[in-house]
Amino acid sequence: MWVRRNEDEIVRIERARRIRKFNPLPAALLTIGLLLVVAVLGWPPPARIVFDRPTRAIILFLIVFTSFYLSKIFIGRYWLFGPPSGEAVFPTHSVRNMICSRCQTVQADTESHLCPCGGELEELHHWRWVDDGIAE
Ligand SMILES: [Zn+2]
Repeated sequence: MWVRRNEDEIVRIERARRIRKFNPLPAALLTIGLLLVVAVLGWPPPARIVFDRPTRAIILFLIVFTSFYLSKIFIGRYWLFGPPSGEAVFPTHSVRNMICSRCQTVQADTESHLCPCGGELEELHHWRWVDDGIAE
């Protein structure tokens, strides 16, 4: 059965999610990887001009890194992946897993944040699954 986590636990989870969201490391690694590939392949041709000067490479790194990083924060993913069109821009919203606080049915979020049973939907990660029998 589903058991709602206590408030302390939820606060801790939300903090961890926030830290993960604003973690610049994936964007930095992605940028470094991308620039390495461009530098090694020497393609597209203007890349040669950029990598001739370390300062230009650093500026390019900052530009690419900033776009990846901001894209991750505002859109929820890196632009590089998936088409940047239509509703796909905000995919995290519709696929977010929710749970009804009354009937405890796991489901996708609705416009009204209400379950068909009338209960209010909550973030699934605020709950945890406990096997019947070994429940605390
Ligand atoms: Zn319900």
